[in-house]
Amino acid sequence: MSESNTLHWQNLSREHLLPPFSDYRELNAKGARIITRASGVYLWDSKGNRILDGMAGLWCVNIGYGREELVEAAARQMRELPYYNLFFQTAHTPALELANAIAGIAPIGMDHVFFTGSGSESNDTVLRMVRHYWMTKGQPQKQVIIGRWNGYHGSTVAGASLGGMKAMHEQAGLLISGIEHIDQPYWYGEGDDLDPDEFGIRVAEQLEQKILEVGEDKVAAFIAEPIQGAGGVIIPPDSYWPKIREILARYDILFIADEVICGFGRTGEWFGSDYYGNAPDLMPIAKGLTSGYLPMGGVIVRDKVVQVLNEGGEFYHGFTYSGHPVAAAVALENLRILKEENILERVKAKTSPYLQKRWRELADHPLVGEVRGLGMLGALELVKDKQTRERFPGAIGMRCREHCLDNGLVMRAVGDTMIISPPLVINEEEIDELVTKARLCLDLTARDARA
Ligand code: PMP
Repeated sequence: MSESNTLHWQNLSREHLLPPFSDYRELNAKGARIITRASGVYLWDSKGNRILDGMAGLWCVNIGYGREELVEAAARQMRELPYYNLFFQTAHTPALELANAIAGIAPIGMDHVFFTGSGSESNDTVLRMVRHYWMTKGQPQKQVIIGRWNGYHGSTVAGASLGGMKAMHEQAGLLISGIEHIDQPYWYGEGDDLDPDEFGIRVAEQLEQKILEVGEDKVAAFIAEPIQGAGGVIIPPDSYWPKIREILARYDILFIADEVICGFGRTGEWFGSDYYGNAPDLMPIAKGLTSGYLPMGGVIVRDKVVQVLNEGGEFYHGFTYSGHPVAAAVALENLRILKEENILERVKAKTSPYLQKRWRELADHPLVGEVRGLGMLGALELVKDKQTRERFPGAIGMRCREHCLDNGLVMRAVGDTMIISPPLVINEEEIDELVTKARLCLDLTARDARA
């Protein structure tokens, strides 16, 4: 493919496309990078550059690119039944088989799934479902959902309100009513002089304070990602989840674990909740469910919640594409591959320990204030001063991201936090390449910072 093709496509982007989360003027001035194909853990752009995808697309391509089995599954299903819905007392086999397969890997006692088309729709579903649950239980005043600042639960109106991204709220006149937030367990950024566990306890205790402030009789649920992804791969201190569990046990509120990123193997377990030993009542899922090959999400629901919903009359909620048969067939095939190829076992025993060991070697770099990671997730905090954690003026993270892309690596920047979430199938040699390229890009960023 030639330079002129690239310019042609960049012009189409300028003239016709409004891409998500983009500064349009800035993008138009620069021109989009056109991705043309992918295989395994690699992408290729229209100029022929090979790029190691350290983000698995958007945290979703868990089994890697180019799996023909998923193509076949989609084609087979399209020939047989390309579309039908689950409304009005009908069902179809792909959705039924998939619900059964998900129940088989979900935590014990979570045997039901409501299907959606995305993670955002899953969180809208959660909001509707928990409020309907409490109304059905005769406690309609229990409406408030407590989320966390800098949490991410999607871009729809409910998803963005449940999330704690202030810039999103300000741009859209959110929050919707009945949503409260507490602080995040971000020790490096907000822990000051506290030791991590002390800080973990302190922010967890905010949940109890918020429940008491709002009134237990008004709180419907607490929502949190096991590990915050979009917020910057924020791994809570060890003390955090045990303290949250202790608080949740004292109050009659539901617990929603947003598994959109952590689900389907990211931590080496099926769900982040398994990794931490948490027992949520609802788990929004998406992304790794289909490894991103087709859009699909869902909410896995605890049986005791379903028992109440069973008494609630019609649940006035659903999407045209809830349980889409082609997406469901692809998800089933994706789950089969994850299981039969022992991908989680390999992540847990081999590749994630290797990634975490190699990733932590970057701690000696002059720009890196903290290295953290867990499973197939990692973050680097870029700072000017390692002692004081002072940041650079200007957007150094974006510079680093640019250097990465120019040198064949997708690494994402959340402010000055560089993050990775590679496909679960990445091997040791590819991990070496990822870390070598990351170091090179840190060097280039350091050179810019000095200049
Ligand atoms: N929840 C979490 C934890 C996410 O990371 C995301 C997407 N990054 C969403 C929800 C929203 O998912 P989607 O973009 O599919 O709507």
